[in-house]
Amino acid sequence: MVSSVPDLLAGWELGLSADESRRAVVLHSLARPGEPADRLLAMPVGERDGDLVALRRRLFGDAVPLRAACGECGEELEFAFDLAAIPAAAEPDGERRVTSGDWTVLVRQPTAGDLLAVAAAPPGRARLVLLAACVAEATRGQQPASADQLPPEVCRLVAEACAAADPRADITLAIACAVCGHKTAAALDIGAVLWAELDNWARSLLLDVHLLARTYGWTEADVFALSPLRRRYYLELAGHD
Ligand SMILES: [Zn+2]
Repeated sequence: MVSSVPDLLAGWELGLSADESRRAVVLHSLARPGEPADRLLAMPVGERDGDLVALRRRLFGDAVPLRAACGECGEELEFAFDLAAIPAAAEPDGERRVTSGDWTVLVRQPTAGDLLAVAAAPPGRARLVLLAACVAEATRGQQPASADQLPPEVCRLVAEACAAADPRADITLAIACAVCGHKTAAALDIGAVLWAELDNWARSLLLDVHLLARTYGWTEADVFALSPLRRRYYLELAGHD
């Protein structure tokens, strides 16, 4: 797992020019440096998100501050999501078979690469692209069928089987409203959270480099070599606190 400042900044630069779906791939490569891109893209989404959770815990700790509006009264809820409390999920269980009437579908979990294909799909096609990614094989009676031929009821069963096969792909918790007591489900998008934090960290660090370089004539490498505490102290001494 990457933790050197130059490596993290290089990842941040790559992520800046990428869209949201590609950013998750960049973050994943920071979590698993040296892993070939095709191996990363072939990983089930839940496994990828598990790697992102581990990277986030290592870089920024266990508590993720989150906000959500109460689904009942609209009250703004603030809470901290404890990443350490996410249960160590069982291994995803590979393929599942769904049957309904004369339909039989072999369902597989979507991978990180599938999500890229979904994000790149033309408007209105994303659902079908995701469905096709989850369908390893479909038959009606003895006849092979494609994902776009599945009736709505079978599509629903496929989506359920997909979610059940890889529970780690969905990190959700129920927040009780302090005003009305209603429990609102809040989902954690670990890729988006981690990107926002990395972006914030990188911009703040570069500002520190700018201020310290201007004051002391230090190079980027000089500033990176300082611990965060010593960096803050020099900034204070230079009147930049
Ligand atoms: Zn409420």
